[in-house]
Formats: sequence, C-alpha cells, structure tokens
Amino acid sequence: MRIAVLSDIHANLPALEAVLTALGPVDAVWHLGDVVGYGPQPDEVVARLQELGAVGVRGNHDAAALDPEMAEWFNPDARLAIEWTGGRIGAATRAWLGALPDRRESQGLTLVHGSPRDPTWEYVMTGSEARANLPAFGTPHLFHGHTHIPIAFRDDGGRMETLGPRDGATLILDDRRVLANPGSVGQPRDGDPRASAMVLDTATSTLTWRRVAYPIAATQAAMRAVGLPARLVTRLERGL
Ligand code: ZN
Repeated sequence: MRIAVLSDIHANLPALEAVLTALGPVDAVWHLGDVVGYGPQPDEVVARLQELGAVGVRGNHDAAALDPEMAEWFNPDARLAIEWTGGRIGAATRAWLGALPDRRESQGLTLVHGSPRDPTWEYVMTGSEARANLPAFGTPHLFHGHTHIPIAFRDDGGRMETLGPRDGATLILDDRRVLANPGSVGQPRDGDPRASAMVLDTATSTLTWRRVAYPIAATQAAMRAVGLPARLVTRLERGL
C-alpha cells in the first residue's frame, strides 16, 4: 500500500491539490490534524478529504474551530483566523471535525497531532522531547505533526538520532523506533515555502518526504479576499 501522510493542511486547497497530484495514485490518505485554521478554504479542504476517504486525528486548530474558548490560547493572528474559521464553516465540516479522535492506530502505526502524551498541544522539536514520548505509544513507529517542520527521530540504542529530511529523502522503518513528521502542507515553517508531505510504502516499510511547489499567490488572494490577517498572508511566500 502507498499511503499519503499529510499534516497541517490549514485550509490551503491549492497546496493540498498540488500535493495530491505530485504524490500520484495512493491507496489511502492519512492526516495528522490542523486541517483548518490560518487558510481561506476550510469547507473545501474538508470536503476534499472526505471525498478521498481520508482518516486522521484532531489538531489544536480543528478543536478551536469548534470551541471558541480554546482560541484564547492562540497568538492574536492565529486567533483571528480561527474565529473567522469557526464562523465560516458549515454543518458538514463541523460534524467531520468533531468526529476526529485525538489519536489513532493503523497498520501498526500511531497517528497524533502534537505528541502521544499530549496530542493537542505538545510540540516535539528535539531528540529529548522525542525520547520522553517513547513510553507514550505502543506501536514501533509514530507519525506526528504540529511543528510544521519535516523531521524524524530514531531511537538508536537509547540515543535519539535526528534526521532532517529533504525532498526525496527516504527512511526505512526497521526495528528502531521512529517518530516521523511530514511537515506542513498548508503553512511550511522551515524556510522552504513549498508544501511538505510524506508517503508510506507498507510493502517496503519505506517513508519518503516530498516538497511540492504550489500556486501560493492563489491562496494569498483567497486569504485577502476574506480579510485574513496580512502577516498570515505574507508568511506563506517565506515558508516561515
Ligand atoms: Zn498547525
């Protein structure tokens, strides 16, 4: 099976479409949360994921779109965007977001948004944070998002190796435990504005990271048209 692993799509439909095209035919689509927030097309992105039969988990922005009190934890621009999202989304999107679990196991892998010990909020940025989370999941490997940075952590005899995967990088999943992050489809933050995603090939136990150019200006125009904060618009072209 080839499985597209997507995270932090953030209501950016042009980025999602470009990634789906670039990855080619897949047997399944998994997402790691933050389907909405920041971007201009929440209903459209959720409808597209539904059409694909995507399965995944709830991110902090997905939760906050349904619960305005959670938005109080956000920075001012993120908060404005999630309040806009909460007022904009339709009943079908609300129902789909509301049904997302905090964590999911599939094909012997654990999926979470932030971390296994705090799926909604914790950022796993460093080897020590990854190591501290090893006892919190029971499968050999885990996929997580939330940081918007493509990265993998591998437990090599008690030492956590940190791998910074570039476009086309592959990692074979063996008996060493791995936490892998595909990066963000809709709002990359590693200085490369291209959408980031991962493909899992279960036949060869291989993970491959991909970077995909998309029409950033189209997303930016849609954001301006609905009055989303200017700083959120400009950060897309910088990938920060
Ligand atoms: Zn996010």
